[in-house]
Amino acid sequence: MTQSADSSVQRVIFRVPTTGLLPVGLLAICETPVVTTAGPAFAVLYLVPILLAVWILRTRTVVDTEQLRTRSLFGARTLAWAEVLEAQDIFIGVNALDYSGYPDCRPEYIAAFQRMAGLATKAGVEGSGVRINAPLIRMTKADIIRKGTELGVDFDLTLSCYDPSPGGEPCGRCDACQLRAKGFAEASL
Ligand SMILES: [Zn+2]
Repeated sequence: MTQSADSSVQRVIFRVPTTGLLPVGLLAICETPVVTTAGPAFAVLYLVPILLAVWILRTRTVVDTEQLRTRSLFGARTLAWAEVLEAQDIFIGVNALDYSGYPDCRPEYIAAFQRMAGLATKAGVEGSGVRINAPLIRMTKADIIRKGTELGVDFDLTLSCYDPSPGGEPCGRCDACQLRAKGFAEASL
C-alpha cells in the first residue's frame, strides 16, 4: 500500500501502488497465446487480469479528521471516528441565540441529529447510545467570550470567519466576523 497526504485538508489515502498493474499486464500478455491457440472460449481467462486491475485501482482507505472510508472490489464502508473510537459523547460548539440564520445551529437540529446518531451508529442501535452535547447553544456570543476568558482561552488563536485569507486572517466582513466583533464589544473585552 502507498499513502499520500494533503496537509491542507488533513487527509491520508492508502492504496495499492499502480505499479501493480505491470505484472497484471504481463499476465494478460502471457495468456494471449493460450487464448489464440485454444480458442475464443478461453478469452474468459482475461477476466483474471481485468479483475486484478479493477481491484488495484478501486481499493483504498481514506482517513481524514472526521471519518475513515474503505473501498474494496465490491463495496465501500464509511465509519465516523466517533464510532471507531467508541465515543459516547460528541461536543459541538453551535450557538443559537444570536446566530445569523444557520439552520444547523438550532436546538431542533441538534435534537434531530441526536435521534439520527441513535439510529445510524452501532453504539446507538446496541443501546449504549451517543450523546450530542451543545453546551454553548443557549449562550450569547458575549457570554461565550466571557466564559472562554474565564477558562483561559487565547482568542488570538481562534477565528470565526467563513472566508479567511490563505494565511488564516479573518476577512472582517462576513456574518461570523461581525457577530464575533459584536460579541467582544458586548463582553467589554
Ligand atoms: Zn469573515
